[in-house]
Amino acid sequence: MKERGFWFDTEPQLNQRAVLSPLEQDITADVAIIGAGYSGLWTAYYLKQYQPNLSVVILEAECIGQGASGRNGGWLMGSFSGDVAYLNRLEGEQRLIAKAIIQATISEVATVCTKHYIDCDLHHGGNLRVAARYPEQVANIKAELAQWRADGFGEEDIRWLDKPELDKQVSMAEGQAALFTPHCARIHPAKLVCGLADLVQSLGVKIYEHTPVNHMAHLGDAQTQLQTPQGNVRAAIVVPAVEGYLRQLSGLGRFTLPVQSLLIATEPLTDAAWDAIGLANRATFSDASRIVTYGQRSPDNRLIFGARGGYGFGAKIRTEFGFDPRLFNAKFPVYQSPPQRAFEGEFGFRYQLLLALFPQLKGVEITHGWGGTLALARRFAPHAIFEKSLGLGLIGGYGGEGVGAANLFARTLVDLILERDTQLASMPWAFNAPVQQVLAPWEREPLPWLAYHGMNKIFAWEDRLYSQPTSAAWQKGLAKRLANRLEGLMS
Ligand SMILES: Cc1cc2nc3c(=O)[nH]c(=O)nc-3n(C[C@H](O)[C@H](O)[C@H](O)COP(=O)(O)OP(=O)(O)OC[C@H]3O[C@@H](n4cnc5c(N)ncnc54)[C@H](O)[C@@H]3O)c2cc1C
Repeated sequence: MKERGFWFDTEPQLNQRAVLSPLEQDITADVAIIGAGYSGLWTAYYLKQYQPNLSVVILEAECIGQGASGRNGGWLMGSFSGDVAYLNRLEGEQRLIAKAIIQATISEVATVCTKHYIDCDLHHGGNLRVAARYPEQVANIKAELAQWRADGFGEEDIRWLDKPELDKQVSMAEGQAALFTPHCARIHPAKLVCGLADLVQSLGVKIYEHTPVNHMAHLGDAQTQLQTPQGNVRAAIVVPAVEGYLRQLSGLGRFTLPVQSLLIATEPLTDAAWDAIGLANRATFSDASRIVTYGQRSPDNRLIFGARGGYGFGAKIRTEFGFDPRLFNAKFPVYQSPPQRAFEGEFGFRYQLLLALFPQLKGVEITHGWGGTLALARRFAPHAIFEKSLGLGLIGGYGGEGVGAANLFARTLVDLILERDTQLASMPWAFNAPVQQVLAPWEREPLPWLAYHGMNKIFAWEDRLYSQPTSAAWQKGLAKRLANRLEGLMS
């Protein structure tokens, strides 16, 4: 059994769901979706909403939610990476409409969940981006706020919290100020993905687990064939909804870069511990560094905390993350490690950061560590593309902000596929065009590996310099200039 991560491990009724049979014969369908994560499931849901008679199948290589959808940090955002770049292609009322559509993603997910009794612990508490740990973070969020304002986002979208206001929300080490946006909710990722899977099955969608698609071949005459180990699927429309795994599907090019992100979870914390931390309103949070931290107070009252991870040479996908709970738990029967070992390695790095933000957590056990793969598009913005002549629909490239975006982009794709004359189908992220025309390919190795590792190292170096009071001003200045330059290249 492959690692499934915290959200499944701590929910026995999800972890022990009956496995759905693999495909064992040749079949036909109107639409064949590859991947049972949020993207695939939302696509199936909206197809069946608008055309209940369509035959829709989902082919999943492993289990429902085995990808990022069952492993993420549970931020359901009313925004997505690269959204401002898309908005900037519009003017006046069109821009306002697009912005409202993006922000309404949270209420759309909440409405569907309520309507179909999906309990995914959704709590709409907003998001805090906190200037903590070192003073330079205050300058970071000031600059960010100025950029938000320049991009047309007002007080209702994002606002400044000074220290007294911040202290009422969360108590972080050196917490000076924060940006607060209401456009974020917390969810339980595995409950959402399993709830969606049950929902689409109840609408007549057939899901095959343990059915990897090994090959896609366009047969002409508006038919595509998907090859799986024990049966083939012929369909008029095919939707690869595989995000970080796209590079493994033959013939789809180097359009995404699979990168990892890793998280840790504390044991459930006492009420007294939460009194010392805050987050009473379950706001999701990050600190204002460039190493992309993210956290939430989980439904079972743990602190969940993650940060950006690595990239494997040759776009290698990582499925095992090898968390060792003994390093973080003195009560473990064979615990022998000197305490500093808990600070080593990928999970140790996150533990260090967590304690730097919340020294109140010293001595608290870290019970889980896990990771997953997300996808970066070369233009750092996601896409919904329908290439009609091939019957190929493609969504993804969410870059670590796909929980809400998967809903928005699936809805968009369905409107394109069904040729619905909607506002969504006319949004700048909706493309009725050949995939090759819309997406830019990533460079060949070793460039992506060098660039990604170089960037991570520079961001971590900058962070370390700021965190150490002895760092020279010229070093901090140099690190900042380099990091700014790199960040500029990514937007
Ligand atoms: C650790 C981590 C934390 C994150 N935190 C957040 C967050 O807090 N908020 C946020 O907005 N986003 C977050 N993200 C990103 C978000 O989780 C993803 O963008 C989103 O889940 C993508 O959903 P998806 O359905 O497109 O892809 P996935 O969930 O990855 O699903 C793809 C599915 O396709 C299957 N598959 C792959 N290849 C094949 C094949 N050949 N044949 C059949 N099936 C195949 C896989 O097994 C997988 O189940 C995070 C990502 C990670 C990894």
